Amino acid sequence: MSHRLVLVGAGHTHALLILRIPEINKQGISVTVISPHEHQFYSGMGPGMLGGCYRPEELSIPARSLVESRAGTFVKDRVVHVDAGLKLLTLQSGANITYDTASFNIGSEVTFNAPSGPDAQDIFTVKPIYNLLSARRRILELARDGKVRIAVVGGGPAGLEIAANAWEACHQHGGHGCSMRLYSGSKFLRGNPERARNIARMAMEKRGIEIVEGSRVQEITGRKVILEDKSTSHEDVIFLAPGIKPPSLFLKSGLPTGPDGGLRVNRFLQCVDHPELFGSGDCIFFQEAPLDKVGVYAVRQSPVLFHNLQAGLQGKPLKNFSPGGKYLLAYNLGGSRGIVHRGKLAFDGRLAFRIKNYLDTKFMKKFQT
Ligand SMILES: Cc1cc2nc3c(=O)[nH]c(=O)nc-3n(C[C@H](O)[C@H](O)[C@H](O)COP(=O)(O)OP(=O)(O)OC[C@H]3O[C@@H](n4cnc5c(N)ncnc54)[C@H](O)[C@@H]3O)c2cc1C
Repeated sequence: MSHRLVLVGAGHTHALLILRIPEINKQGISVTVISPHEHQFYSGMGPGMLGGCYRPEELSIPARSLVESRAGTFVKDRVVHVDAGLKLLTLQSGANITYDTASFNIGSEVTFNAPSGPDAQDIFTVKPIYNLLSARRRILELARDGKVRIAVVGGGPAGLEIAANAWEACHQHGGHGCSMRLYSGSKFLRGNPERARNIARMAMEKRGIEIVEGSRVQEITGRKVILEDKSTSHEDVIFLAPGIKPPSLFLKSGLPTGPDGGLRVNRFLQCVDHPELFGSGDCIFFQEAPLDKVGVYAVRQSPVLFHNLQAGLQGKPLKNFSPGGKYLLAYNLGGSRGIVHRGKLAFDGRLAFRIKNYLDTKFMKKFQT
C-alpha cells in the first residue's frame, strides 16, 4: 500500500470508519488503529449497564476483532506524544509509529482529579465508561449489607443518568437501597430546557435523591465530600461526573488547540497547522462553531472524516463538516424509564426509554459481527 493512515482512539467516529477499512484499503491506503482497549464501551448505554438493564457485552464494540477481520492493524497502546514535524507517534510502551495521515478520536476526560489512596476503589469517574461496570459490582456488594451512601458529583446529563441508575442498582437483588446526594454546582441540568429540568427533578425527588445546588464540591478526601461552603458528607461510593475536557495530549505535543485543550480543527476536521492531522468527537475544538461534547457529533462527523482522510492523501478536494441542526437527547432513568427532549419538547416515562433503547441498540447493531 502506498499510504499509511493511523487512527488514534476507537471512539464513535473511528469505530464507524473501522467498518469501512476494506473501502479505504482499495484506495491503496493501509489502516492502523491504536487504542488502549480491545473493546470500546458505548457511552450511550453505560448508565443502563450500571442500572442493570444491559449486559456489558451489549455495549461493547470489539475494536480489535473488527479491525483485524478487515485486514487492518490493531495496536493495543496509548499515544503519549505527537511529533507533527517527523510525522511520528510515540506510544506509552515506548514504541514509535510513523504516519502519512493521522486522525484523533480520543474522547475526553473528567475534569476533577480523582483522589488516590485506599478509598479510591470506591470513587468512580464516569469516563472511561467501563468504570461503571466496577461501580455496579461494588454497589451490589455494599447494598447486600445495608443502605449505601452515594454521592454523585456533577449535575449535568451524565450525573442525572448515573444517579438514577445507581439508585436502581441499590434496589436490586434484595439490596437495602441507598441515601443519595447529587451535587450539581450552581444549577441542576444547567443549559437544558426548563421542562426537561423539571421532569428530571421530579424523577429524582420520587427516588428520594437530594439535589444539592448553589455550592460546588471543592475537595474529596478519602470518602468525604467537602463543599465550597465547608459542609461535608461521608459516603460509601462517590461518582465523579463534573464535566469533561479533551486529554492533554495535544497541549503536551505543542499542537494548536482551542481554549479547552482540544485539537484545533478547521471546517474539514483538519488540524489548522498540520494538514495531515485530523480529529473528531470530544477531543477537537471545531473553530467554525464550537460543539457540545456529545456522541451525536462524533457520529455525524464520520462520513466527512471518511472522505477527507482519503482525499487528503490523494490530493483531492476535502468536504466541509456541517454540524446540522438540533439533536435529540435521551436520558436513561433506570427501571425502563427515561426522558427524551429536543429543543423545548420534552417527555418522560416508558416511551422515552423505548426511544432511547431503540436508538442505542440500532447504533450497536452495526458492530455486531
Ligand atoms: C455517562 C455518560 C453518558 C453519555 N450518554 C450520551 C448519550 O446518550 N448520547 C450522546 O450523544 N452523548 C452521551 N455522552 C457523551 C459521550 O460519551 C461523548 O460525547 C462521546 O463519548 C464522545 O465520543 P468520542 O468518539 O469523542 O470518544 P470516546 O467514545 O470517548 O472514545 C475515545 C477513545 O479513545 C481512547 N483514547 C484516549 N486517549 C487515547 C490515546 N492517547 N491514545 C489512544 N487512544 C486513546 C479512549 O480510551 C477511548 O476508548 C455520555 C457521556 C457520559 C459520561
